[in-house]
Amino acid sequence: MSQDVIEVPVLIARKRDGGALDAAETTAFVAGYVDGRVSEPQMAAYLMAGVLTGFTDEEAAALTTAYVESGDVIDLSALSGPTVDKHSTGGVGDTTTLVVAPLLAAAGAQVAKLSGRGLGHTGGTLDKLEAIPGYRVDLDIDEVRDQVEQIGVAVAAATAALVPADKRIYALRDVTATVASEALIAASVMSKKLAGGADSIVLDVKVGDGAFMRTVEEARALAERCVAVGEQHGRRTIALLTAMDQPLGTAVGNALEVAAAVAVLRGEGDARLRTVSLELAAAGVRTAGLDDDPAAAMDTVTRLLDDGTALERFEQWVEAQGGDPRVATAPDEVLAAAPVVRPWTARGGVLTGVDTRRLGELAGLLGAGRQAPGDELDPRVGLIVRADVGDEVGDGPTVEIHAADEDAAARVAGELGAVMHVDGDGGTTMGELVIERVTGRSG
Ligand code: URA
Repeated sequence: MSQDVIEVPVLIARKRDGGALDAAETTAFVAGYVDGRVSEPQMAAYLMAGVLTGFTDEEAAALTTAYVESGDVIDLSALSGPTVDKHSTGGVGDTTTLVVAPLLAAAGAQVAKLSGRGLGHTGGTLDKLEAIPGYRVDLDIDEVRDQVEQIGVAVAAATAALVPADKRIYALRDVTATVASEALIAASVMSKKLAGGADSIVLDVKVGDGAFMRTVEEARALAERCVAVGEQHGRRTIALLTAMDQPLGTAVGNALEVAAAVAVLRGEGDARLRTVSLELAAAGVRTAGLDDDPAAAMDTVTRLLDDGTALERFEQWVEAQGGDPRVATAPDEVLAAAPVVRPWTARGGVLTGVDTRRLGELAGLLGAGRQAPGDELDPRVGLIVRADVGDEVGDGPTVEIHAADEDAAARVAGELGAVMHVDGDGGTTMGELVIERVTGRSG
C-alpha cells in the first residue's frame, strides 16, 4: 500500500471541504510522509484542514495504527510481572512519573517507560531525570527489559525507531498551531503507548489553562477516545482527568521538580502532587490487575508511599541508570542550584488564578525549556510558586525565581504581576483536582 501513488492534493482538498479519508487513505498519507512522497507543506495543510473540520473516529483509529506501523514495536512479553505504562498529556509542575513509576514497581507492577522531552510550555520527564547527575536516558531496549525484570522500573528515551511518524508530525504540529486536536493528540499518545508494549495503560489527561485541552468536555472526549483505542488493542486502559489551572506541584523547572518529587516520596511534599500521584498509581494497580478494588488499590499505594518503600525503589532505579542515588536522601547536595534566587511578592489580596501556560513559558525562558529544537537546558533554573489559588498573598514571597543571572530573574519578575492574578477581596475556590475517571469495558 505504502508504495502506491497517493493523490495527495485530492485528499487534502477532501479534508479541507469537511470530508473524511478512509483507513487505507489515512495509512497511505502517513506512510507517504514518513517515506518522503508527502511533503512537509502537504502534511501541514492536511493537519490544519483536519484541525479546522475535524477527524472521524475511523480516521483517528487509522492515524493511530499508521503511527504505530511507522516504526518498531517493543516486545515485553518475556517479563515476568504485569506491565503498566503511564502518560500525561502535559502540564506545568507535573512531575508525577518520578513518584508513580517507583510506586507502581513497589506495588509489584513492571514499568518500562519510554518518555519524551518538554514540549511548548510543558515539562518533559527526560529533561527532569537528566537533572540528576549521571542519569542515563539512552538505554537500549535489552537494558530496559533487564532493569525492569530486576527492579521493576526503567525510564528511558524513546529511540528514533519508535513511532517515527509521531516524532516528525509532532514537531510539525508544534510549529503550525495544530497541536490541540483531540484526534491528533489521541493518535500521538496512544501510538507511543501501544508501541511501548505494556499490557495496561494509565493516562493523565490534563484540563485547564496549563493543558492542551482547555475544557472538561474536550478532555473527556480525548480520554474516551484514548481508552477506546487502548481497549481495541487489548490493553486495559484508565484515564484520569486532572486539573491543570495552576501548577500541579509548587516547582516548575527540572532540578526543582526532581526535588519536589523526592519530597513527596519522603512524605514531605506538595499536597496536590502527592494526591494526583497516588490516584494515578492506584489506577495503575487496578489496570495492571494487581487489585481491582479501587479503595484497596489506594490503600496499597498510600502505604507504600508512607512507609518509604517507594523512595527505596526510586533510589535503586536512579542508581541502576547511573544517577547519583543520594538524590533520594540528600537532594540538596546532589542537584545543581541556580546562582540567583530572587523572591517576588504579589500585591496584597487573594490569589484568584494563575496564567499557568505563561508560567510554564516563563520557566522555559529562564532556561528550563527549549526556545528552539535542540537547545541545551539549564537544569538549575525555574520557579517555585509559594501560594495556591485561594490563598492570601502579599506578606511573604509568592514566587521564588531561580535564574542563571540577575537579568534573567528581572525579566521574569517583570511579567509575574500579569501571571499571578490577585483580587483585593475576591475569594476563590478551585474545583476538584481529579475531575473524572474514564474506564473501558475491562476497567
Ligand atoms: N502529548 C503527546 O504525547 N502528544 C500530543 O499530541 C500531545 C501531548
